[in-house]
Amino acid sequence: MSRIRILPDALASQVAAGEVVERPAAVVRELVENSLDAGATQIEVHVQRGGAALIRVTDNGGGMDREDALLSLERHATSKIRTKEDLAAIRTLGFRGEALPSIASVSRFRLATREAGALAGTEIEVNGGRMQHVRDYGGAPGTVVEARSLFFNVPARRKFLRSEPTEAAHVEQQFRLHAIANIHASFTLVRDNETVFQLPATPNELERIEGLAGRELARRLLPMEEFQHGNVMVHGYIGGPGLSRSDRKMQVVFLNGRAVDNAAVHYALREGYHTMLMKGQHPITFLFLEMPPGSFDVNVHPAKKEVRFHEPHVVREAIVRAVNRTLTKSSAISTGHPTEATQRMPMFAATSATTPLESPSLELVAPAAQLSKPVAPALPIFAPQAPTSFPASFPTVAVSSSTAATSLPPVDAPREKTAEANGAPPPRFRILGVLHRLYVLMESAEGLVLMDQHAAHERVLFEQLRHAMEREGVPSQRLLLPVTLEVPPHDFDVLQRHLETLHRLGVEAEPFGANALKIDALPAFLKTDDPQSLLRDILEEIAGASSRTSALRLGEDMIATTVCRHAVKANDSLRTPELEKLVEQLFACEMPYCCPHGRPTLIQISHAELEKKFGRRAP
Ligand code: ADP
Ligand code: MG
Repeated sequence: MSRIRILPDALASQVAAGEVVERPAAVVRELVENSLDAGATQIEVHVQRGGAALIRVTDNGGGMDREDALLSLERHATSKIRTKEDLAAIRTLGFRGEALPSIASVSRFRLATREAGALAGTEIEVNGGRMQHVRDYGGAPGTVVEARSLFFNVPARRKFLRSEPTEAAHVEQQFRLHAIANIHASFTLVRDNETVFQLPATPNELERIEGLAGRELARRLLPMEEFQHGNVMVHGYIGGPGLSRSDRKMQVVFLNGRAVDNAAVHYALREGYHTMLMKGQHPITFLFLEMPPGSFDVNVHPAKKEVRFHEPHVVREAIVRAVNRTLTKSSAISTGHPTEATQRMPMFAATSATTPLESPSLELVAPAAQLSKPVAPALPIFAPQAPTSFPASFPTVAVSSSTAATSLPPVDAPREKTAEANGAPPPRFRILGVLHRLYVLMESAEGLVLMDQHAAHERVLFEQLRHAMEREGVPSQRLLLPVTLEVPPHDFDVLQRHLETLHRLGVEAEPFGANALKIDALPAFLKTDDPQSLLRDILEEIAGASSRTSALRLGEDMIATTVCRHAVKANDSLRTPELEKLVEQLFACEMPYCCPHGRPTLIQISHAELEKKFGRRAP
């Protein structure tokens, strides 16, 4: 007797449900996708008790006739694709025909739907996969789908639901993604009978982001102009240096309107930010990719969140370049609009930025990054007024581009866009003293400015070395005794292909036997007695990056990791002229506002904030 059985449909659906709807947020994702596919322009999401008690999505889309409504609950019933060719060129969010039957099999389910011209609509109730009622429905055109008591009949899964607030947070995140990707529809989220979001349709992405993430965050985002590379179009909004989070919640990427998760994309974002991102931090991005449907595959995972690109390197390159362009421009923008500086600084309450912006407080000795907001990048700190506003007896640092030019090698394009080119006056500071032998206290026309002398020096050294590398390659220094490095065959191939890169970085190496390299010289600025481990680090870097990563990029990494050791240490005491020089050099940098590891170099506490702290002004 045969032991193989075909599963009863209801059971098969429950099994599938495990993959499609792992938690309430996934139900929300599927239902809202269906509403969008049905052309809805108004979508309302209700959840109760984190979605465990109730999830209801109401839309004003096309609705279904009775036959379709019944069919929609069958497994693999979909109106969205018919052929293999359709699958290769999906333009809808759904296509698997699994969501409704899956959800219906693990909840007390109700579908009510009506087409616009129809006399009556259809209402269907399903209880744990079992059809209970089919009746006429007299509601408004569109569709309501309701799932109550999710997983009531699958205790094992119900147990896996996290706390209500956690599930609710996931629902909210899912809702955000849909709402950002579909600005032409209005979205409402009601949680436990309280309206959390009510977002009118808008033609403006930033307005939608503002509605979801708060005004202050939206204001700190840099617009990314449309950028095309290959068949990839990128645009969006991204956080400038100093704006990041310790999780990826605000790193959202949409591909043709679908939120996607893809390692190559994350990596590209990281590389785009490069040294402007603190270790362990994730950038804040709202990135929109548009690509021809045939150039990627979303049919990778039942949740349709993963995506495979046919040409991942093209996507990567597009993102890296677009991010780069946007960030490079940002330093010019930030010094170009002095009025921004005087506005209240961000405090996006609902979201937790990692550069805590609330209460600059009295703990002036706290580590800089935790103190107040970083100045970068949308916060210019030059003084619009004349320098004479400071008493003459104090040293005043005026940074003009002529002094800058003498202290650093000639600069290339991006830097020309800084203060001078914008016709803005150079920054002016009066040095007041040094706190903790680390934080240089300065007065600017805007208020109090703190500079982390170590971070500032790192930035200066970093840019000097980078310029040197760009111009003539890093000068190298011969080793007294050449060192040989044995590497596994695969790595050996990689290294061999990058000998020229290594050369530019000041590393002289040549093949030595089958799987070894002989190293004759190392970069002069590098004081290491362990060239082997250095090379291994570089190798890892080379292997980790794609073959397209430029020599410059790799060099930047190497420099960024080594300058730290050479920079002025936190507790080196510097005299005023040295500090002045440092400020001057910092402002001659392309990106003065953060160190090569992405930490802020400058923090400002405005007069307004001080006044508030001292109760001179209403908060
Ligand atoms: P898929 O979205 O992959 O096609 P679903 O199980 O999510 O599969 O939905 C099955 C079908 O039911 C859809 O193809 C669509 O025709 C119909 N449908 C589902 N939700 C709605 C809705 N809100 N409005 C109109 N039709 C819908
Ligand atoms: Mg669907």
